Amino acid sequence: MRKRVFDGSGLLGLLLCLCLCAGCAAPPAEAAGIPDEPDVQQEQDVEPETQSKPESETLRANEPEPEMGAEPKPEPAPEPEPEPEPLPLEGHIICLDPGHCVTEEAGKGYREPVSPLSDETKPRYLSGTSGATLTEEQLNLQVGLKLRDALTELGAEVVMTREVSEISLPNTERCRIANESGADVHIHIHADGSESEKAHGVSVLIPDGDLLGTPSIVEESARLGELMVNRVCETTGAKNRGTVPRSDLTGLNFSEIPSVFIEMGFMTNPEEDALLSSGEYQDKIVAGMAESLLDWYGVER
Ligand SMILES: [Zn+2]
Repeated sequence: MRKRVFDGSGLLGLLLCLCLCAGCAAPPAEAAGIPDEPDVQQEQDVEPETQSKPESETLRANEPEPEMGAEPKPEPAPEPEPEPEPLPLEGHIICLDPGHCVTEEAGKGYREPVSPLSDETKPRYLSGTSGATLTEEQLNLQVGLKLRDALTELGAEVVMTREVSEISLPNTERCRIANESGADVHIHIHADGSESEKAHGVSVLIPDGDLLGTPSIVEESARLGELMVNRVCETTGAKNRGTVPRSDLTGLNFSEIPSVFIEMGFMTNPEEDALLSSGEYQDKIVAGMAESLLDWYGVER
């Protein structure tokens, strides 16, 4: 009988085989002694979720839930202030001259030149005409002050040669005030008189040009005169006597800016005089004069 002898070779083979298998199971890097490298793919996968959210979302998530009904009301947006419409006569300067005045100088025989281009003279102070209740000086001032207020409301800067009755104001001085005021236009306010009680109606006196110091104002004065007589006759219903060129008026001849004399009506005509002294009729005159200035300046409306 053959005796079985253990020679150990079988056991050695088994051990070798086990060792090799164990080596295969270990990670290769570890097995090779290579230092750990971060597993990039894995790190991206485990990035915290909050870091990928936008900041605002994160903050909102941390805010306490608003209570029902306790939400603060949003402030209403302030209404933008509307730009104020410019007034129609803004930027314009108008000089008004209520004709005549009350002065002790009147009876002293002073004279003034008719024109800067002439040696001819005329009385410095003329009293003007008068009606049943008013003198011409008083009527001219009443209408002048009303027109001042109306034009100021339309945005104009108004320069008055006088705002009182008692003042010594020659015609050359009235023109000096207008010329130096920076005004665009000089309007003399007067009323008419006649030996005939029947004469009535409105006219506007304009520079003739023959004896003027400033011929360049003739055309623009005539244009305003035409507009004024037409507008005032529209608003008052008075007879239209048109424009009348005059070369003998110091107040036109010394003016360096367009200038007109309105003759608002006849104080020697009892019916027209009664109208002229009433506030209502004066308002109509003022409305017509203001309209003519809006026309003259080319204000659209
Ligand atoms: Zn007069």
